[in-house]
Amino acid sequence: MRAGVTPARRSAEIQAALGKLLGPDAVGPATAAYLTDATEHRGVKGRADAVVWPATTEEVASAVAWCYQHEVPIVPRGGGTGFAAGAVPDGGVVVSLERMTRVRAFEPPLWRICVEAGLSTAEVRRLARENGLFFPPDPGAAEQSQIGGNIATNAGGPHAFKYGATGAWVTGLEAVVPPGEIIELGGAIRKDVAGYDLKGLLVGSEGTLGVITAAWLRLLPAPEATLPVVGFHAGAEAGCRAIEGVLAAGLAVAALEYLDGGALAAAGPSFPAGMPDGAAFLVIAEADGSPAEAERVQRELVEALGVDALDVRAPARPREVEELWRWRDGVSIAVEGRRGGKVSEDIVVPLDHLREAIEETVAIGDRHRLEACSWGHAGDGNLHSTFLVARDDAAQLERARAAAEELFQLAVRLGGSISGEHGIGWLKRGQLSGQWPPRALELHEAVKRAFDPKGLLNPGKKAAAT
Ligand SMILES: Cc1cc2nc3c(=O)[nH]c(=O)nc-3n(C[C@H](O)[C@H](O)[C@H](O)COP(=O)(O)OP(=O)(O)OC[C@H]3O[C@@H](n4cnc5c(N)ncnc54)[C@H](O)[C@@H]3O)c2cc1C
Repeated sequence: MRAGVTPARRSAEIQAALGKLLGPDAVGPATAAYLTDATEHRGVKGRADAVVWPATTEEVASAVAWCYQHEVPIVPRGGGTGFAAGAVPDGGVVVSLERMTRVRAFEPPLWRICVEAGLSTAEVRRLARENGLFFPPDPGAAEQSQIGGNIATNAGGPHAFKYGATGAWVTGLEAVVPPGEIIELGGAIRKDVAGYDLKGLLVGSEGTLGVITAAWLRLLPAPEATLPVVGFHAGAEAGCRAIEGVLAAGLAVAALEYLDGGALAAAGPSFPAGMPDGAAFLVIAEADGSPAEAERVQRELVEALGVDALDVRAPARPREVEELWRWRDGVSIAVEGRRGGKVSEDIVVPLDHLREAIEETVAIGDRHRLEACSWGHAGDGNLHSTFLVARDDAAQLERARAAAEELFQLAVRLGGSISGEHGIGWLKRGQLSGQWPPRALELHEAVKRAFDPKGLLNPGKKAAAT
């Protein structure tokens, strides 16, 4: 862009140029909805010169090519549900995939589907279900998040314990990479070891290597039955023992979730059918498979989770199972409702350190004078360690940021990771340097340069150094 122009003039010139390329309906000013994501309650808000709404891969390619030629940053955007501010722009052009929602191919007998990146996660799961199939990734904001965003963050969810995160279900990707070229990696194939795993690099790349425009996904026949068991315990010690008991009993459960006492205090009041007195830890484990297999595993889960439990419930009717998972999906919002805001992270630790990480989360909160709690994917050792804040209290937010730093150090000290689901985005930029050795960080940056030599794709995000 020309030097010396005012920001407003620059934005107008960018919008005019992109409008000529894509048509006026596909370009507009960056309204508030495109400047934030699920970190808005932490006060994170960006700025951008324009938003584009391409309807085809070719339109994405021409927008990226124009931006690359004119040194304008490009910020891919899915449903804006990210918890790391990855889609929050710091200038440049937001490329919103929301108009790219076509199902390009769907072959239920071959257990596969090819969809455009803007289709919602819930719609992919619904299409699969209506055809007797199952797309296992189940991140919590499924109605709003897009499949492209899920791939770009390698999103997980409760059933990632048995079935793996989103990347495990991607057999092919179409993407636009700098300086504006369309590439296809993999496809309707279930195996591919030719070449380096470029598809794997795009998975979880948080919009820093390319714009994902479509994906081939593999599906499974839907399990005939899903039967959860809920164990209520007096605290983390008994609860974590029960979790380890499930594994030691050799029960291959589909999901293994927990809520600690603080999370239960926030979400417990709306628990379907009420909670027993004194409950300060909850475990959900789910059996799936044929009706006979699910029933057998559910019976064994009742035994395993029953050790030292205050109560064990085994919902059996589909409506009860649905209600339980709907309640589980609402935990994050219920916790946020306690004080109006929260700083919620997603550290991972080896399973034998789960109890320590749960208790340390609360201790770290105490040290920073903040109420803290956690819940998450116990089987994966993945905690949503959370510090509660009042939305407009800058001092509390600052203390929560310091608490999160301590939490990341804890994760690394315990042999874990600073992120198991949400990614690095903008909020955790630079934190990888506490986890990876210098040579690994160099390779990380070299991969970025190989895809994006001008550093224009989602600048500042997923950066190894600040
Ligand atoms: C209530 C709630 C519950 C949640 N539960 C979970 C959970 O259980 N598990 C989990 O993993 N996450 C969870 N999340 C976080 C979030 O939903 C996921 O990270 C999701 O995958 C983000 O998808 P999105 O479409 O909203 O992406 P966005 O927020 O729009 O973007 C996220 C990142 O991906 C990039 N991106 C988006 N689309 C593309 C594309 N087409 N090409 C290239 N880059 C792209 C963006 O640049 C950004 O860096 C939850 C969030 C909320 C609000």
